[in-house]
Order: sequence, then structure tokens, then C-alpha cells
Amino acid sequence: MLKIGCHLSSVGGFKAMALSAKEIGANTFQYFTRNPRGCVAKPIEKEDLNEFLKIYKEENFAPIVAHCPYTLNLCSAKENIRSFSKSVFKDDITRTDLIPGSFYNFHPGSHTGQGTETGIKQICDALNDIITKEQKTTILLETMAGKGSEIGGKFEELRRIIDNININEKIGVCLDTCHIFDGGYDIVSNLEGVIEEFDKIIGLERLYVIHLNDSKNTLGSKKDRHELIGKGNIGIKAIEKIINHSKLKNLVFILETPQETLGGYAKEIEMLKSLRK
Ligand code: FE
Ligand code: FE
Ligand code: ZN
Repeated sequence: MLKIGCHLSSVGGFKAMALSAKEIGANTFQYFTRNPRGCVAKPIEKEDLNEFLKIYKEENFAPIVAHCPYTLNLCSAKENIRSFSKSVFKDDITRTDLIPGSFYNFHPGSHTGQGTETGIKQICDALNDIITKEQKTTILLETMAGKGSEIGGKFEELRRIIDNININEKIGVCLDTCHIFDGGYDIVSNLEGVIEEFDKIIGLERLYVIHLNDSKNTLGSKKDRHELIGKGNIGIKAIEKIINHSKLKNLVFILETPQETLGGYAKEIEMLKSLRK
């Protein structure tokens, strides 16, 4: 069965997200742990969480994906941003740990002029302080388009991060199709080659989630602007291959397409299910 969902607003709480997911034919979803721009997290309400967990089990949901707020940056040139990011990160994981099988996805960071070396070192120092042996959540490094001073636009950069984390069994990767396409990985005419390269450099055993997005821009544009499934430069043929590929088909797929309504996601999910072989 296709494990598929989309990014949902967390404003109404966990139970509301589970019900929305059900309504649109999804069996998983992604949410921001707090406002993506601001940074205040609502306390988790026990009752909401318990009701959510009931639906999660009954409906046999696939693991859900928490997404770290965009404002965090573990490798900012500013020390106060780095330390703030680290404390939010730690607090988020105490929350995601309350939901079995949770993933916590984050953008590795932007080095803001310090250079990739320094950026990677700061990300690793922070993660080494954040990750504990006891944590249940799997932290996912998201593949990026490589725009500006973004780290994670190349598989090698993610590899170097993983290599420098002491407890790295809780580290995985989330592959964003729009990001890697914009980053120059040709999943349209060479999907097999890109999967092989990912496996050789990072290892497919680290890959847990795919952000399934089409792209408004062209291969290697380094832009990162998502498009509706089938309406962009990746196209439906390549997306169909991705969701059916033997090495990818059992992963969790999350849509982050620019839909204006839940109904739009429902249609995309229905279409993707119909393309599943
Ligand atoms: Fe993301
Ligand atoms: Fe993404
Ligand atoms: Zn993006």
C-alpha cells in the first residue's frame, strides 16, 4: 500500500490533522512543530494526543513526519541563532518522542557566509549535543536545492554530516524530489543513476521519507519552488516511476505541492494511488 500524505496545518492539533488526513485518503502527514516563521510552540494537550494516537493505530497510519521550523539554523554565523535553534530542536524532540515512529525532518542549514566546512562542523557539533541514546525519534536531514549558502544540496554533504555524528543510528535522510532536481540530480532521464549515486554515497538504508513535489524550475536551477504534481518540469512520468520504484515504493511519501485547499491534495493522492502498480 502506498504510504502517502501531505503537509497539514497543525493549528487544530493532532486529532484534527489525523481526521483531515483520513478525509483526503492519506495514511500519514507532515506538520510543522510550531509556526514555521515565528517560534512559539503550543504545549501538547494530553487529550488531543491520546485521541490522535487512537486514530493513528486504528487507521494503521504510516509514521508521521514533523518538520522543523524554517527559522532554525544550526550553522548560522550568529551564535545566538545557533544556540536558540539547538534549544528548540531539543524541545521538539521531547514532543515528537511522544508519537511512536516519529520522524523529525530538518533543513541542514545555511552557513551564511562561513563556508561549507564550518557549516558542516557546526551542524555536527549541534547534533552531537542534541541526539541522545534514549531518543526514539529519527532525525531526517532533508536534501536541499543548494540555493544561496544552503548545505545539503549534494549527497556528499549529507554523508559528511552523518559521518561526524557520534550516535548516528537515529539519523536518516528525507529526499525532496523538487530540491534534488533543482540541485542538478536528473531524476527525469536518469532516475536509476540518481538512486545508485544516493546508495553509493549515503546508503539507501538511511532513506525514510520522500517529499514528492514537482518543480517550477529546470534541472540544476538551484531555485526550490515546488509545483503541483505533473504540472512542472519533473512531470508525471518520472513521478510515476518514483512511487513504483522497487527501492522507493515502501517509503513514506509527503506532498508539499502548492495546493490551496485540502481537496487539491485529495485529488493528487487519488491520482497517485491510481498510478501505483
Ligand atoms: Fe523542507
Ligand atoms: Fe521538502
Ligand atoms: Zn522546498
